[in-house]
Amino acid sequence: MKKSPSVLVIGGGSTGTGIARDLAMRGLDVTLVEKGNLTHGTTGRMHGLLHSGGRYAVSDQPSAKECIEENRVLRRIAGHCVEMTGGLFVQRPEDSDEYFEKKLEGCRECGIPAEVLSAEEAREIEPYLAKDIKRAIKVPDGAVDPFRLCVANAASAVEHGARIETHSEVTDVLVEGGEVVGVEVTHQTGTGPYVHGEPGEVEEIRADYVVNATGAWAGQIGDLAGVDVEVRPSKGVMTIMNTRQVDTVVNRCRPKGDADIIVPHETTCILGTTDEEVEDPEDYPEEGWEVDLMIETLSELVPMLADARTIRSFWGVRPLYEPPGTGTEDPTDITREFFLLDHADRDDLPGMTSIVGGKLTTYRMMAEQISDHVCEKFGVDAECRTADEPLPGSEDFTVLRDYMDDFGLRSPIGRRSAQRLGSRADEVLNSVDPNPVVCECEAVTRAEIQDALDTAGTDLNSVRIQTRASMGNCQGAICCHRMANELAPEYDEKTVRASLDDLYQERWKGERHAMWGTQLSQTALKHMLHAATMNRDEDPAAADADIDFEPIADDRISFEEFQELDIRVGEIVAAEGIDGADKLAKLTVDIGVEERQIVAGIKQLHDLDSLSGSKVVIVANLEKAELFGVESNGMLLAAGDEADILTTHGDAVPGTKVQ
Ligand SMILES: Cc1cc2nc3c(=O)[nH]c(=O)nc-3n(C[C@H](O)[C@H](O)[C@H](O)COP(=O)(O)OP(=O)(O)OC[C@H]3O[C@@H](n4cnc5c(N)ncnc54)[C@H](O)[C@@H]3O)c2cc1C
Repeated sequence: MKKSPSVLVIGGGSTGTGIARDLAMRGLDVTLVEKGNLTHGTTGRMHGLLHSGGRYAVSDQPSAKECIEENRVLRRIAGHCVEMTGGLFVQRPEDSDEYFEKKLEGCRECGIPAEVLSAEEAREIEPYLAKDIKRAIKVPDGAVDPFRLCVANAASAVEHGARIETHSEVTDVLVEGGEVVGVEVTHQTGTGPYVHGEPGEVEEIRADYVVNATGAWAGQIGDLAGVDVEVRPSKGVMTIMNTRQVDTVVNRCRPKGDADIIVPHETTCILGTTDEEVEDPEDYPEEGWEVDLMIETLSELVPMLADARTIRSFWGVRPLYEPPGTGTEDPTDITREFFLLDHADRDDLPGMTSIVGGKLTTYRMMAEQISDHVCEKFGVDAECRTADEPLPGSEDFTVLRDYMDDFGLRSPIGRRSAQRLGSRADEVLNSVDPNPVVCECEAVTRAEIQDALDTAGTDLNSVRIQTRASMGNCQGAICCHRMANELAPEYDEKTVRASLDDLYQERWKGERHAMWGTQLSQTALKHMLHAATMNRDEDPAAADADIDFEPIADDRISFEEFQELDIRVGEIVAAEGIDGADKLAKLTVDIGVEERQIVAGIKQLHDLDSLSGSKVVIVANLEKAELFGVESNGMLLAAGDEADILTTHGDAVPGTKVQ
């Protein structure tokens, strides 16, 4: 039997794994080498937008057409990697009408379904859009998970006989007789079944053909082969917000600009991005102002972003390319199209083609074209099937989950849940949707908490023991409240609070013996979170708790007797503690007709520096007294043991009589 041509693909991003799948499905003998893990490069550091093509409908129509075509294909073959959120191009009052019309027309010219929405209609879809937006265009944008997509392609390639080597860096391109004949790889440390050689071991892998799919690194592989591949790496920042502030991809409808898109992704939103050329795809500045710019500019579209919490930011590098001599100055103007550079035609070096440019959305089309090219070289007559055959896991998610494990890309959370739940994992984890993480330290999701509550009732300590939630590093600092939330709305507030207190007490029991060093800081943080932020030290529910009030006095006084009291509104001018007295403070109070010095027992109960300017109520005709050697000429009225200072609610001026 005739031996299949062997092809070595360099690069384990979306492009490389897509190529490996396509060629393997056509019966070629494929080896893929990747220096890190799969998605180590730009694929693992992108925005997650499944382009409808709308973003390029005015500036780069060939790219826009490719995007909408592949958008439809990916929805078909990779439903498990795609969430069809829909997208909006939102126009603000200051954005040009002319551009809005061009965008609409461009979408229609490129075959991108586009519908104009009024501001009200857009806000019905996205209620947090700014109130003053003008209108929007609705397009079929979506969110795509690059990790799952890459793994699914690699898994399919393996199913069709490909060999995959992760943690194998190409350190030389073998050129013999003026032709590329393979590569030298140096194996690195890594885990999983796709790491083969020993760390540091050098291996020569010979192949009939080499495909350079290293994206922003393609120039470096070119250098090893002695040819110029002029990629123009361009970095972009992305900032992840704490929740999903929008459910739809929100784009700003204006000509190119930084910070013009928000992509909802799983439980978060990703803001992006910038476009700045860099020399080295692995060494470039990551600056705070870039993040500030994202938040400031995008809060013009969604104002709540200005106050939302940012979880983290990351940067990626686009593998942009333009033919030599084009010389575009601004990287935002460089085309997003992709290019096949056949080094035989271009550099008189047969045996290798580089593929550069493009986007994740068009990875499959890129793979198809280069696979056609390779097959043509070897006279292989095999049709591309990747647009029709679903990727592994698109019908049964558990298939993909196992592959994610194999490639070391599975979330540790999924793995921990599966360990705890064993054969019940699927049943339990699928019982709640969405299924956010409740306890980060121990990787416990809502589904597991709910499952434990079935037997625990309101006993959160039982939930703790069953799931390990709150037993990790932070000892419940972050997750105790979330665990208690899971009891609502089934149980009333009082019951939930009592369960939460029991859980706290149990956590505190062990922690109090370790109050030094960093654990002390951790406990201080926990106190701040719970007492200062969540009000646990001044629990509003405690206000209803049973208090032993003093009985109302039996002896009544006459109205005349009451009128003998001269009670006045005052304003504190100054407040300072009295030296040597734990509780006493000296107040200077303006009572309209004069300033009074009054001693009050509030030193430990109030922040004296903040009292100046406060309206108070005093008894002005009380006998003078001397306390700690300081004369007190009147009495400040305050309620209860905590000395809650009485004040006025209207605009009664100092000196006004209280009657
Ligand atoms: C900020 C930003 C946002 C983006 N957002 C989107 C988006 O929302 N939607 C979209 O469709 N596209 C987006 N893109 C573009 C998209 O991410 C990329 O076009 C795509 O991921 C490139 O994939 P790739 O496989 O070609 O390159 P990569 O993913 O970079 O893969 C190349 C691989 O080659 C490996 N490699 C390099 N040198 C060697 C070596 N010597 N030996 C072995 N392996 C090597 C690298 O480790 C890397 O894993 C974005 C890009 C950026 C930068």
